[in-house]
Amino acid sequence: MKYTSNYKFLLEDLSKLKGVGKKTSEILKNKKINNLFDLLWRLPKSYIDRTENNNINELQIGRIHTITVLVKKYSFPRIRNLPNRVTCEDNTGTIDCVFFNSYEGYIKKILPLHEEVTISGKISIFNKKYQITNPRYVSKDKALIEKIHSKYNLTAGISQKIYNKIIDQILKNLPILKEWLHSEVLKKFDNESWNDSIKKLHNPKNIGNFKSNFYRRLAFDEILASHLISSEIRKKIKKVKKKEKKFSNESSRKVISRLSYKLTNEQNKSLTEINKDLTSKNKMFRLLQGDVGSGKTIVALISALNVIESGYQVAFMAPTEILCRQHYKLAKKIYSNKIKIEILTGKSDYYEKKRINKEINSKKINILFGTHSLFQKKIKFSNLGFIIIDEQHKFGVRQRKSLSDKGGINCDVLLMSATPIPRTLIMSVYGDMDISIIKEKPNHRKEILTYSKLEDKIDDVIRFIKKELNNKNQVFWVCPLIEESKKIDHQSAIKKFDYLSKIFPGKVALLHSKIDKLEKENILNNFLNNKFQILVSTTVIEVGIDFPNATTIVIENANKFGLSQLHQLRGRVGRGLKQSSCILIFKKNLSKNARKRIKILKNSNDGFLISKEDMKLRGFGDLLGFKQSGLKSFKLADPVHNEDLFILAENEIKRIEIEEKNLIKYKPLIKLYDQADVINDLI
Ligand code: ADP
Ligand code: MG
Repeated sequence: MKYTSNYKFLLEDLSKLKGVGKKTSEILKNKKINNLFDLLWRLPKSYIDRTENNNINELQIGRIHTITVLVKKYSFPRIRNLPNRVTCEDNTGTIDCVFFNSYEGYIKKILPLHEEVTISGKISIFNKKYQITNPRYVSKDKALIEKIHSKYNLTAGISQKIYNKIIDQILKNLPILKEWLHSEVLKKFDNESWNDSIKKLHNPKNIGNFKSNFYRRLAFDEILASHLISSEIRKKIKKVKKKEKKFSNESSRKVISRLSYKLTNEQNKSLTEINKDLTSKNKMFRLLQGDVGSGKTIVALISALNVIESGYQVAFMAPTEILCRQHYKLAKKIYSNKIKIEILTGKSDYYEKKRINKEINSKKINILFGTHSLFQKKIKFSNLGFIIIDEQHKFGVRQRKSLSDKGGINCDVLLMSATPIPRTLIMSVYGDMDISIIKEKPNHRKEILTYSKLEDKIDDVIRFIKKELNNKNQVFWVCPLIEESKKIDHQSAIKKFDYLSKIFPGKVALLHSKIDKLEKENILNNFLNNKFQILVSTTVIEVGIDFPNATTIVIENANKFGLSQLHQLRGRVGRGLKQSSCILIFKKNLSKNARKRIKILKNSNDGFLISKEDMKLRGFGDLLGFKQSGLKSFKLADPVHNEDLFILAENEIKRIEIEEKNLIKYKPLIKLYDQADVINDLI
């Protein structure tokens, strides 16, 4: 291999490396390490210092030492279970190298008789004699051993030594890439080049050195690449010319005037932004983000009505059937009966599905509600103009892009999410979209009161619930998740169901992941219709469903949940006019961290603030939904520690969007970081 200035070298297959055979490369591939670049992103976790060379009389048992010795004598007993033994010495003493399951030939090769070798390994003692068992670090070349050796998180089957060798090999041949950072930006990192930075990153002396320039430069590259990709997708989608939608707002005005409440300012602002997109000649790709209960559904339904008025069809997708049905019913209630509204669910029978397909195709249906099923190929809209997707936080960038492609040129897209994102992360998570945010809650809303209770005070909780039931209110009871074991997850819920059923006979129902889909819907519907008053469940409570009559949510073992998740669960109540409460139950001995979290929840109902705090406490990867979303998490950049880099990258993107028409300079950066080729046809 030779020096190159071409980034493509880094995307080469692992088998290009010396010493990497089929077996090793397979092991690595199983760990999603497919090419040289992937390997570079496995950072050393710690290191072993083998630099200090000692005399034998200085050795300490149990420690790793490096020694340079003369090979004196072999002993090959040739009896099973007895190890081969090589006696070595220096001026100060003797030591045995002991080899189990080894070949004489191999030993003679690495430890040639009467020659001087350098060995490093853990010192033990046997029969009052020093020994090193199965030493891996043996060489006639001192310099190869007397180093600080990086320790990587290893994949079974590859030795630390081989891994280090592979990394060394890549670092030695690292291409010198042409600088892509703007000089002003580069200055902030003391002009550290990419090449030098990578080398420093793998230098064991620099482990944990995340404040240094080389580290920050690489972290910045990572953020910039992700932002660039998003920005390119956004530009690309926006470039699509569509036929603008024309509508008078008359029917939507009527619907708004008939609502039992007034839209909040931010609902109105979002509506204006959406309408502006609909009537423009550029395709809309917008996220409507608002905390739980902020009233996103009505905004979506009103904009849908505008699209229908302009002569197009609308597809409204939600993650679960019960949520679909709830939206469908609301549409039925508020739209005039001239609008043809349908719902397609798993329950629809063959003939129903056939009829709906036909009517969608002949444009008889104006708006169709449904789950993912709406995207089946056989469903052919005659002129789809708008796709609305509720609670979409589980989609990643790629899925979103393919979604926007799917609807065709004239189709606008609105996604809705209740997962608040800290300000610094918006560009990373949703940089490919325009965003409307609803921050305020409808103003009649009472804040949800949040209490914490220790487990042994459960009688207080029961008393509280009795009072609620007397006032004709309903209660959610969420049971602890038992980690690691999905199998027994529901057992605690069953126990609690039995317990509560004895106290409140005939008033309790149970929901957990083992209950099948149809039965689950039944239960939720019955709860909605107040056929029972207490719903005991694991965390399967659906996102988004509106249960205005539920006023209390009890969450057991609350420290198992992240802040954002607790906030989302809490958002199941507090949707009606009545005062609602959330009771967090804890086992004893709350940690300092747990106390901090309760305090944050008690003091705030603001999902954005809570998500920021959550991120500070638990890190980005654990924020609600992101783990499942497949959303790329950053390897080096950390949204909490590197907040400034995220802001810097956002500003840099703005500058690039204005000043740089040609992105060719960023090609290596994008190609290296966007291996999924999300934007392959752009540069
Ligand atoms: P989310 O944003 O979580 O999807 P929803 O759209 O389900 O919230 O709305 C929650 C509840 O708030 C619904 O019962 C809805 O009718 C009600 N709502 C929506 N907008 C307003 C408003 N401006 N004033 C009062 N209530 C509202
Ligand atoms: Mg909703």
